[in-house]
Amino acid sequence: MITPEEQAYPPPLIEHRVNTAYRQHLDRKRDEIEKLQENFARNVTEAVAQNREFGALLQIELDALHQAEGAHEIESLRRILIGGIEELIRGQRSLENKLRKTGDYLRLVKSDSTRLRDELNKVHLLSLTDEATGLPNRRAFMRQLLDEIGRAQRYGTPLALAMVDLDEFKAINDAYGHAAGDEVLRCYAKDVLSILRHHDMVARYGGEEFAILLPNTALEGARSAITKVKNHAQQVRYEFEGKAFPVPTFSAGLALYIPGESHMMLIDRSDRALYRAKQLGRNRIEADLGPQEGSAGGESAPVNKT
Ligand code: GH3
Ligand code: MG
Ligand code: MG
Repeated sequence: MITPEEQAYPPPLIEHRVNTAYRQHLDRKRDEIEKLQENFARNVTEAVAQNREFGALLQIELDALHQAEGAHEIESLRRILIGGIEELIRGQRSLENKLRKTGDYLRLVKSDSTRLRDELNKVHLLSLTDEATGLPNRRAFMRQLLDEIGRAQRYGTPLALAMVDLDEFKAINDAYGHAAGDEVLRCYAKDVLSILRHHDMVARYGGEEFAILLPNTALEGARSAITKVKNHAQQVRYEFEGKAFPVPTFSAGLALYIPGESHMMLIDRSDRALYRAKQLGRNRIEADLGPQEGSAGGESAPVNKT
């Protein structure tokens, strides 16, 4: 029940641009870290080679010292030793430098990868959250749906899905403007749908449509949960420009997961039940009972209009 206009929230072009910019930024960061790692590896290799050379040099000097005899030989060895030790000191200083640089590189890599990890977490969270309502977005919902279907298949537990669409929402936009409509959506997320149990997942599926996953819940349980939300909505007011207004009613379509069906089939059946709820006059909950009911079938549960 998503219109092309609804799908334009947020405009896909902007989302695409933001994604591309993020990806480029992350690619740059990854390149930088790769360069740092290359430098680090080179420094370590050089330090190891230099250390091996020092060892060999020291061994030669030591052997010569052991074998030295006579004043002349000792004198010439002394000169060689002075030259050798000077070289050792120079080498030791350059080794120290290299090790210090390596330490700096390591610190850089560490702080960069920490920052990158934080950024990735943030991007990940953003990509799963609907900015306007703070609810999980459709992408997050789809992931959770697949997870829950997996669980339902594995353990044979029931899984219900409710698609909820606000009634005559466009009229609010038309009468009071989009800001009022946005306030209604926030209010639904914060004050209406929030009364569901916390392991039920409420997501913003699109424009003024919410998807609610009720794990471990059969159809009757889902119906009473959504009825509870419906009754609660009658008490809730949203505030706009200093005045309080009743929130609009909603229509809902329920479906119980049938083992073996795809997630899209489950969504489609809930959507069809929602469509029927709209057709039958809105502000009501309809359930699709699966193929055995036929496309015209299904239970209906009229709800008192306010
Ligand atoms: P129905 O009872 O049949 O569902 O009627 P409706 O008016 O709720 O549904 P319709 O599909 O005709 O209009 C939905 C409107 O929701 C159209 C669109 O402009 C508006 N809308 C979608 N997303 C947003 C949003 O994020 N903010 C606001 N303010 N309006 C939105
Ligand atoms: Mg609507
Ligand atoms: Mg709609």
